Amino acid sequence: MSVLNNPIRVILMGPPGAGKGTQGEILAALWQVPRIAPGDIFRAEIKAETELGLKVKAFSDSGKLVPDETVIELMRSRLNQPDTSSGWILDGFPRTVVQAESLDMLLAEMSQVYDYVINLEVPDHILIERLLLRAKQDGRVDDTEDVIKNRLQEYYAKTKPLLDFYGQRVIVIDGTPVLSEVTKDIQNKLGSL
Ligand code: AMP
Repeated sequence: MSVLNNPIRVILMGPPGAGKGTQGEILAALWQVPRIAPGDIFRAEIKAETELGLKVKAFSDSGKLVPDETVIELMRSRLNQPDTSSGWILDGFPRTVVQAESLDMLLAEMSQVYDYVINLEVPDHILIERLLLRAKQDGRVDDTEDVIKNRLQEYYAKTKPLLDFYGQRVIVIDGTPVLSEVTKDIQNKLGSL
């Protein structure tokens, strides 16, 4: 993708369990850009028991979204790191309309634009299956059945409306097939734009 050595900036969206993290990692390696995932940053901070970790633990553990100001502050500093000069893949940000508006402002300040918004679509029953399986494999505390319910609720109430915010710019990808198929589909769709 970054054939002309232009930075590539991608917003990766989709419900929890859609495969954002996995696709994000594959694409980040292919395009040689950092994958920036606030959920990963929060988990690391919680583990290290930092001030930020303590602040977000209750939200993250219960499947609730962390308050916008906290996430926006984190992303402001992360997007100003030198490794973002090649671009980025945002995985799990923005997750609310307020965050999306803040990202627009932040990018305007930095004289940058995003290139693509990708939405990975997967039906609920498959999401729940995948998340429960991940709970067993990775031992994530937010992959228990009750917490999964909260996370999906938060997604439908606060994140899904972002699809209207981005409107025509959203590239819809079916996230149900095997990993390699999904990656290929993304590459094909982006390559043909
Ligand atoms: P994830 O790994 O993306 O599923 O995120 C795990 C948890 O981190 C979420 O359930 C939220 O509690 C928190 N989180 C991650 N990204 C955001 C965000 N953009 N806004 C608010 N909370 C977030």
